[in-house]
Amino acid sequence: MNDLERMLRDIKMEVELTRNLLGKDSLDDRVMAAMKEVPRHEFLPPDLRYLAYDNGPAPIGSGQTISQPYIVALMSDLLETRPTDTILEIGTGSGYQAAILSKLVKQVYSIEIIEDLATKASKRLKRLGYNNVAVRKDNGYFGWQEHAPFDGIIVTAAAPHIPLPLINQLREGAKLVIPVGLPYDYQELIVVEKNVNDEFDIRPILGVSFVPLIGECSTETAHKDFHKPSRH
Ligand code: SAH
Repeated sequence: MNDLERMLRDIKMEVELTRNLLGKDSLDDRVMAAMKEVPRHEFLPPDLRYLAYDNGPAPIGSGQTISQPYIVALMSDLLETRPTDTILEIGTGSGYQAAILSKLVKQVYSIEIIEDLATKASKRLKRLGYNNVAVRKDNGYFGWQEHAPFDGIIVTAAAPHIPLPLINQLREGAKLVIPVGLPYDYQELIVVEKNVNDEFDIRPILGVSFVPLIGECSTETAHKDFHKPSRH
């Protein structure tokens, strides 16, 4: 078994271990195929490449991390993408999650707040031929209005609350997949689905541990006009 096969096996095993939380025993085949295709070692600093196919997070510089493969696969699965979709990612980091999404959808827009990471990820994605990913350096809390509405939004840093600007940039029927909770404390990965009449369903999936969203997160506007969600 090579390193990549070991990573895929470990993702499948963790999915099975968490089947009660996920409500299924396996992830979408398209997602698993994308996990097989993208060379994760290309997204790690050279001295940490030996960790590339372990099912764990790893440092990528600037105090940030590339997420655990199981979490990348799970979040990609939860978005329930279609090949015609346009997806927004907040937290480009290394660009790995964006590369996985680029295999699943038509266009990926990704926002990274740390300039050095944004520049490096953008160059890396271009060099590796992921031509349907556009990276911008900015505070992703406010989304990317110019390209809205999105068919799905994924946030790969923990937010203190559900960002209203992101909800506003989802098309009807689309999903926001986001870890919500306290920095370096309890966070829950949730799926917010935007329904007709701007109503939302919130589905908590499982406890996770992400680096926090940084930059301004305007709680005042986030609570204004926010419809009471129904919990299932
Ligand atoms: N998806 C990344 C992992 C991201 S770690 C990957 O596949 O490698 C979280 C990233 O979110 C970090 O790079 C961090 O700098 C970025 N981030 C934190 N707050 C942000 C914000 N407000 N807007 C955009 N990016 C943010």
